[in-house]
Amino acid sequence: MKYMKKSFTGMVPYHSKLITDGIILNANESPILPPQKVLDEIKTKITNIEFNRYPDMDEIELNKAIAKRYNVKPENISSGVGSDELLDVIFRATLEPNDIVLGFSPSFSMYKVFAELVGAKYIPVFGDENGIFNVSDMIKAIKEYNPQLVLICTPNNPTGQYFQEDEVRKIIESTDALIALDLAYIDFAIKDYYYLGIEYDNVIAFKTFSKAMALPSIRVGYAISNKDNIDMIDAIKAPYSVSTISQIIATTAINNFDLYKGQIKMIVKERERLYKDLKALGFKVYPSEANFLYVLFDDKYNDALLKNKIYIRKFKSGVYRITVGSQYENERLMEVLKNETKSN
Ligand code: PMP
Repeated sequence: MKYMKKSFTGMVPYHSKLITDGIILNANESPILPPQKVLDEIKTKITNIEFNRYPDMDEIELNKAIAKRYNVKPENISSGVGSDELLDVIFRATLEPNDIVLGFSPSFSMYKVFAELVGAKYIPVFGDENGIFNVSDMIKAIKEYNPQLVLICTPNNPTGQYFQEDEVRKIIESTDALIALDLAYIDFAIKDYYYLGIEYDNVIAFKTFSKAMALPSIRVGYAISNKDNIDMIDAIKAPYSVSTISQIIATTAINNFDLYKGQIKMIVKERERLYKDLKALGFKVYPSEANFLYVLFDDKYNDALLKNKIYIRKFKSGVYRITVGSQYENERLMEVLKNETKSN
């Protein structure tokens, strides 16, 4: 990387290997396609695309459809190429070099990368001895560091921890700093509090089509906030970033959100079963309100899974995240793990 500027030396690209064969439980994806009616509607609609034209750069139909689902105004929505693009925009729009960003740790690894890209300092707030994050620790850190930006990922990737609404409010009300409320997995949780993005001037909520909507392939995410924050995002975002195909697919999906409820329920049910089964084998498993479980076990279990073409996410030796798969996939996973405990 000969031409890379000095301050970026040592930067490693985010990378997740594309796996096409086996049981894929490493990327928090849905084990199933979107509902059939959504797929059928998409197929009809994409045949009529004017491929020779640029997309609608204001994403009008898509933002209208998102706004309708949440009963907010289209001016409260901005869409982007995954919530990744919008998070990146927020870091670039709000931070000067040496500004402070606070976030719980471990959390979504891109936060630190986005902070480093603008020369800001990312300061992690760790959990207690059981790995549980405490709101009071974040509020203490806010007082100590006086950050410009605070990240709250709920349910948190990779630990699965979900903050109750009143806990999130406590953090928000403790500071004037901007709060990026990352709700990527909240459709799997007990309650969605996206409206905090509109209720408070200092909050932007981020959601995505990549998880519960089973559409990571189209790369669409969105921000929900007051008009002023949305205007800030739109001022920085690259023009035409969300392709016409992606806009059409996302619009169709969110207009049919009710059809997803069965899928989401199935994943939540499987998560609860997998949680109990993993605990019963004696592993430390974190309570999760997302579509994955954070698990501590010996690396030999991962070796056994790999031999059986079952792929989970390894963070470091002994620390793993398992995406909840279909019933069959979860049963296969448990079968391999059980066999491995017996071979001790
Ligand atoms: N936030 C969190 C917490 C995530 O885990 C992810 C994806 N891994 C994203 C944001 C980005 O999602 P996308 O860009 O696919 O919308």
